[in-house]
Amino acid sequence: MIRTVADLHTHTSVSQHAYSSLDEMARSAAELGLAAIGITDHGPGMMDGAIRHHFYCMRGLPKAVHGLRLVTGAEVNIKDFEGGLDLDRDVLRQLDFVVASYHVEAIDPAGLKLHTQGWLNVIANPDVDCLGHCGNPVFACDYEAVVKACREHKKAVEINSSSFKVRPGSAETCRTVALLCKEYGVPVLISSDAHSRYFVGDHEAAIRLLESVGFPEELVINGEKGRLMNYLDRLEQGKAL
Ligand SMILES: [Zn+2]
Ligand SMILES: [Zn+2]
Repeated sequence: MIRTVADLHTHTSVSQHAYSSLDEMARSAAELGLAAIGITDHGPGMMDGAIRHHFYCMRGLPKAVHGLRLVTGAEVNIKDFEGGLDLDRDVLRQLDFVVASYHVEAIDPAGLKLHTQGWLNVIANPDVDCLGHCGNPVFACDYEAVVKACREHKKAVEINSSSFKVRPGSAETCRTVALLCKEYGVPVLISSDAHSRYFVGDHEAAIRLLESVGFPEELVINGEKGRLMNYLDRLEQGKAL
């Protein structure tokens, strides 16, 4: 049975289309008994993304709040199919956790071939830790090529629980991604992508999908506390999976 002990991809009101403070998000995570919360606001390429200085100053935050490990992070926007991101590496290297995503607000969809090329370039970037909602059918790609590249470069693949609500058609594509991760032994992170405190730790849809494909529990990075902490320690040391 799959369960989760952390939520590493969440947003705060630093992004104006999210509605809770960092402290509210952390309190919700603590109330759920999670071991860690990641704060990953949108990069400046999103119309209401945070400014660079927001991410730069995250290093001043405490390592633990409300008994939880606080993971500083960003959800960077993929700006082009060369793998360009909307935050520079000086800032990305100071963050604990970087998830990179395609968003229509930051880049126009351009077909399977270019979407795949973009992912392959992003996966090769040592400053990126995890692929955000790569099952979004708007940015359909060669999922097998992408998952194989994640194995090669030791990147995590996110199964984003919000996708089933806000990204139509994601159930089928996420199933494909999950099956490929299972086949190639690529670890996944289950995240809520919560934009308010009320959805922190809401991983139900992603767990249901993973269980439906018989996904191995040991490949869920945030499925067990020791595994999660080991992963976060490695990220802090600048290492991959
Ligand atoms: Zn996103
Ligand atoms: Zn997000």
